[in-house]
Amino acid sequence: MCEITFDDLGPSKVLHLYSKKIQLKAMIVVDNTALGPAIGGVRVSPVVSLEELLRLARTMTLKNSIAGLPHGGGKAGILADPKSPEKEHYFRVFAKMIKELHEYIPGPDMGSDEEAMAWIYDETGRACGLPEEIGGLPLDKLGATGFGLAECAEVACPYAGIDLKGARVAVQGFGSVGKAAARFLSEKGAIIVAASDTQGTIYSKEGLDVNHLIGTKLSKGAVRYCKEGTCMEVDDLFSIECDILIPAAIPDVIHEKNADAIKAKLILQGANIPATRASEEILMRRGILSVPDFIANAGGVIMAAMEYAKKTEKEAFDAISSKIKKNTKLILEKATKEKILPRIAAEGLAKEKVLKAMRSREY
Ligand code: NAD
Repeated sequence: MCEITFDDLGPSKVLHLYSKKIQLKAMIVVDNTALGPAIGGVRVSPVVSLEELLRLARTMTLKNSIAGLPHGGGKAGILADPKSPEKEHYFRVFAKMIKELHEYIPGPDMGSDEEAMAWIYDETGRACGLPEEIGGLPLDKLGATGFGLAECAEVACPYAGIDLKGARVAVQGFGSVGKAAARFLSEKGAIIVAASDTQGTIYSKEGLDVNHLIGTKLSKGAVRYCKEGTCMEVDDLFSIECDILIPAAIPDVIHEKNADAIKAKLILQGANIPATRASEEILMRRGILSVPDFIANAGGVIMAAMEYAKKTEKEAFDAISSKIKKNTKLILEKATKEKILPRIAAEGLAKEKVLKAMRSREY
C-alpha cells in the first residue's frame, strides 16, 4: 500500500470506493480546492495505482493554477478493463458513488471518453469533456491538447535553437493527444519523422504523411501498418534523430536509463508525468530543453474548464493559445535567467497562486 505524503498543498481527500455488488474498485484523490472545485480526469485501467493518482492530481493542481482556471486539482482511477462490455454499468455505479463529492468534477482521461462523461453527467449533473449533443466541447475530437502542444512549440523552439518550420518531430503514443499534436505541428510546417504506439514505432527520415498515418492508426489500430517508413521496436522511438520529442502516452517513460540516448533538442511533455525528475536533470545538463506537462499539455483542461463555464469552441481555442504561449514564455525566461529546470520555474509560479488562495480561505 502506497504511503501518502502530505505537504503544504495537499492532498485534501483520498477516497477508496468499493461496490461489493459488481466488485468495482475505484480511487479518488482531491489534491487541492483553494482555487475552486477540482477538475481532473478519470483513468480506467486494471493497474492504475494510488501513487500514480496522487502525482497526477498534484499535476492538475499546478496545471489549473498556472493556467489561471478557477479550479483545483484532482484525479480518479477506476480499476477495470477500459474495453469491458460492462463499461457503462461500472461508470454509472462509480458516478452514483461520487454524486455528493461536489468538490470533484470528473473529466476524460486514458480509458474514459466523452460518452463516459455523459454517463457521469447523467447520474451527477457534474462532468466536463461532454459530447457536443449535450452542450460539450469534445476536447479529444477537437484535438485541444495537441493544439496546445503546437502552440507551445511555436514559443519554445527559439529557446532550443530550432526553427519550427522544417523541425523533425517524433511522437511517442499515437492516441488522442499524439495524433492531434502531429496534425497541428505539421500544419505549422514541422515534419513528423516518427510515431509509436504499444505495437511499435514507424520511422521515416524524410517524414511521414500525417493524414495517412492518422488514417492507418484509425483503420488498422497501429502505426506499424503505415505503408511508408521503417518499422522499429516500441522503445526505439526515444533514440531517433529528431529536433522535437513528444511523449504522449504513459508516465515515467523518460528515465535515468534512456535520457542519455535522446537526440532531440526540445521535449514537449504531452503526457502527464512522462519524465522522472532525475531524467529532467540529465536532459538539462545535456542542453535539452523540456517543457513540463502542466504547461505543455494544458490545452485539454483549459477547454474542459471553458466548457464548464459555458464558453464557445472559438473562445476555448483562443484561451488555449494565449494561456499556453504566455506561460511557456514566462517559465522559459525564468528558467534561462535563473539556470533552473523549467519544471521548477513553473512549479514555483503555480504553487505561489495556490498558497495565496489558501491563505484567504478557511483551511
Ligand atoms: P489515448 O489512450 O488516446 O492514447 C494513448 C496512446 O499511447 C495509444 O496510442 C497507446 O497505444 C499509446 N501507448 C501506450 N503505452 C505506450 C508505450 N509504452 N509506448 C508507446 N505508445 C504507448 O490517451 P490520450 O488521451 O492521448 O492521453 C495520452 C497522455 O496524455 C496521457 O498521459 C494523458 O494523461 C495525457 N493527457 C491527455 C489529455 C487529453 O486531452 N486527452 C490532456 C492532458 C494530458
